[in-house]
Formats: sequence, structure tokens, C-alpha cells
Amino acid sequence: MEILSRKHWAAGLAVVLLAGCGITIAGEGLPHWLTVITADQLRGDVTFLASEELAGRAVLSPGSRTAAAFIASRFDSLGLKPAGEGDRDWYQRVPLLRARVHSGSCRVERRDGEPVTLELVWGDDFRCRPGGFSGFDLSGEAVFAGYGIHAPDRGHDDFAGIEAKGRILVVLAGSPDTVRSAPGHCSMTAKRAAARSHGARALLVLPEPGSSEGAARLRADFRPDHLALSGEEDEGLTCPAILLQEEAAARLVSLAGIELVPGGPEPHSLPGIHISCTLQMEDTESVSTRNVLGLIPGSDELRFREFIIVSAHYDHLGSRSDGRIFPGADDNASGVAAMIAAARALAALPVHRRPARSILFIAWAGEERGFLGSEHFGGRPTVPRGQIKTIINLDMVGRNNRGDAANSNTLLAIYSAQVPGLETLLDEVVTTTGLELRLRPRLHMGPSSDHVVFHRLGIPALHFFSGVHQDYNGPGDTADRINFGKLLKVSQTTALLAFQLADEPDPPLFDETITTVQGRTDSLP
Ligand SMILES: [Zn+2]
Repeated sequence: MEILSRKHWAAGLAVVLLAGCGITIAGEGLPHWLTVITADQLRGDVTFLASEELAGRAVLSPGSRTAAAFIASRFDSLGLKPAGEGDRDWYQRVPLLRARVHSGSCRVERRDGEPVTLELVWGDDFRCRPGGFSGFDLSGEAVFAGYGIHAPDRGHDDFAGIEAKGRILVVLAGSPDTVRSAPGHCSMTAKRAAARSHGARALLVLPEPGSSEGAARLRADFRPDHLALSGEEDEGLTCPAILLQEEAAARLVSLAGIELVPGGPEPHSLPGIHISCTLQMEDTESVSTRNVLGLIPGSDELRFREFIIVSAHYDHLGSRSDGRIFPGADDNASGVAAMIAAARALAALPVHRRPARSILFIAWAGEERGFLGSEHFGGRPTVPRGQIKTIINLDMVGRNNRGDAANSNTLLAIYSAQVPGLETLLDEVVTTTGLELRLRPRLHMGPSSDHVVFHRLGIPALHFFSGVHQDYNGPGDTADRINFGKLLKVSQTTALLAFQLADEPDPPLFDETITTVQGRTDSLP
């Protein structure tokens, strides 16, 4: 219990070790300063952020602006220092370019045997994620690539054994059970990145058969516009994705002779099947969104210039075409509320008891549209990049993995494997707060949330995540389904860990020479 000897605030820690059987019971020993945060405060913040009034907090929407203003007002009332672009500014502006789709066409042809042509109509039959500002005109042979998931470390690779280069990949939405808890592999962003890296021209996405709710979610996710950071030459960096509506998908499946075996569609070539698509875009316009930043200054006269970041994205998916809102209570009102709670506990410490380094709280904008806020900060940080010692990111931390009550006290901790020192620290902290952590050190991180931007920059990155569930990205992601007892422990864990990292004389460092995972990797619950 190194944590005991190191920290004066932990003097009252009363962890009961049941002699001989190795069971640790924590709870009563919680440092007093962590008791200022409550499940009721968390419930209040999640309920507001996930309310109808905020309408799903889509980037650039009035609901997202209200959410940002709400977070800034919370930071203000807790006594944080504004840490945006100006001295008294809570915000960092994130300049963006946006272009909407004007029109498009898509044709599927069977060229061998008796030729058959399927003409698909923009809007009625298919939607697009453009992947750039200038539209496209592409054609190629089709290949069926299963779910389009490249996750060899999970024993799943839909690209093994198929030729993707120069082809148009026909893939199924969703993911098989074996990789379901890994948005870094299964999200549409991850699938597009995998398709791109394998040289594919485009993804043609079929809704999962029999999942009408899933199809509605997908449609909301395929917004007919392209949004990117201003000044970023992202043209052509992402792979265009085309989503077929259910009926059009059924026609294509029958024309191409694709066999959809439940749970395990095998990738295979589609000889004689040729697909051509065009997309025209409207002119681009300049728009912007905002990150929200608040600071607790460090107490050491030198080390206050070093920073620990605690972050969570505040945007979500908005609403779908029939007007139904995606409340995003877990994704990610839960993370924002836990970040605010951690700030509340740390800000309530007397100034002389505050940790040595400064703690910077950041609510990210535009995560759902490709990590826009964190990418912008990564390129233009408001504090010197080399002074950022660690980031703790929270995204979806209020539910139970797979909706299973057996996971009501478990949390996944995904962190840079190049920072092995984090393992001991995490284990120590949860011994005090009573959460069961599942550790997932990663040398490479898929596009799962904002921490990935920092990991790529060689900054120690840690991500808390309570797992996926049936309401993920759905209208059922409501505040009443949040496990607030767990969310309280997540907030306490975050605050305690941030304190430790900010006060540690030698914080864990990112060691680029580490090329194999050294730490413990826990199995998923
Ligand atoms: Zn999220």
C-alpha cells in the first residue's frame, strides 16, 4: 500500500484486508476530500445534458452550444480558472469547413452470364459519408469483405484472403460478438480507415439483416455532409462510405449472390460484379465549434507549468430523420459529468493541499465527427505540448458492459503500453475507490476516442470506458439507465488518479523503445 505512505490526505484510509484470502474491501477508507461529490450531482448533470432541450448535442447545433455554456458555467462556479484562448475565456475555437452533398448516383452491374443492372437513387436507396469536399466519381470490381473489420489482435481479420486494392468493398454494418467491445475496431471510422489502408476505393455498407433499430442508427450516422478541420488537407484521407437502405441492400445481395450467414459472413470475391458511384458536393463554408477548458493551478512554484489533462467529449449524434433524439446519456454525458465531479473534488481542496502540477479539464467538441476538437488541440494546444504529462479521457463510463449486471462494478482502462508505470498506479487507486478495473495496455490505438490523438503524439494516454450495450448510439441511451453508483466511483477514481499523477515527483513517462506489451492484460468481463 504505497499510496498510504506517500499521501498525507490518505491518512484515514481504512482498507480492510481479509487475512490470508487476498480479498480487499475498500470504501470506508475513501479520502475525505472525495466525499464532496455525490451520485445526485452526477444524476443532475447527466439528466440535463441528455435532456430533450439539448436535442442530442450534435456538433454545430444549438444543443451543443448550450452544453458548452453549461460546462463553462459549472467550471466557473467550482472556481476553476478559464483556460481557453484568452485570459478570461473558457473556450478554444475549433475552425471547421463544411460541405453538403448535392446529389449522387450508384449503379451495380452483373457483367457475367445474363447482364443485370441495378440503378440506385440517392436518398431513397442510399446515403453517403463523402470522405472529402470534392465529391467522387469512382468505379471498380466489388468484393464482399464480411464486416470490414481489421482486428488481427482480436483474432478477426476480414481483409485476410481477399484482394481489397482498387476494389469497392461490400461490408455488413455492425460486428461479430468476438470483437463487439472494441469501438476502435468496429466503428464506421475504423472500418473506413482499414479499407483505406488496404487500398480500397469505397465501402458499400449493408445494414445488418433483421436489425431495424440498427439501420435507423446507421442512417443517423451517415450525415450528408463533410466536416473537417479548417486548414487540414484531409481530401482523400478517408474512404467514402455508402450506406444502402434495407430494400436496396436486399436487391444487391440477391443480384451479387452474397450469402449472409448469421454471426460469421465469410469474405469472398464477387466475380463479375461491378459498382460505380458518383457524388456531387455543394460549395464549402466556414463554420466553427468550441472546446471548453478550465484549470486548477498546481501548488508547486516550478511544476505548476506541467499539466495533467482530464477530458471528455460533450457532443453526440443529434436526432434522426424522424425527429427521435439520441440523448447520449452514456455517450458521453456520463464522461462530462464525471469530469465535472472530479473537478469539483479537486477544486475544493485548500490551495496548500493541491497537487504540484496543474490539472487542465477539457470538454471536447466534435468527437462524433472525427475527433475534431481534440485533433485541433493536438495541433494547436493552449499549453506547451511538451508540458502535458498525461491525459485521462472519459467516454461512456456510466453503464455495464454488454448490459450485464455482473459488470456493474467493472471499468475498462485502456492505456499506452509504452507507459508501464500506469499499471501500479491504477491498481493502487482502485483499491481505494473500490472499482474493478480491467486493464488493456495498447501499443497502437484504433480511432475509439479523443485520447488516441495524444497517444499518437507520444503523450501518456489513458481512457476509461465502461463498455458497449444495446443502447449504444441509440435513442435508448437515456439518463435513467445510467448506473450512478458506478459513475460516482469512476469520478472518485478519476479525481484520485489525477491528483496522484499531478503530485508524483516522477510521473510515468512514454517510452518509445517499448515495442511489446509488458503489463497485465485482463480478460474482458
Ligand atoms: Zn463517445
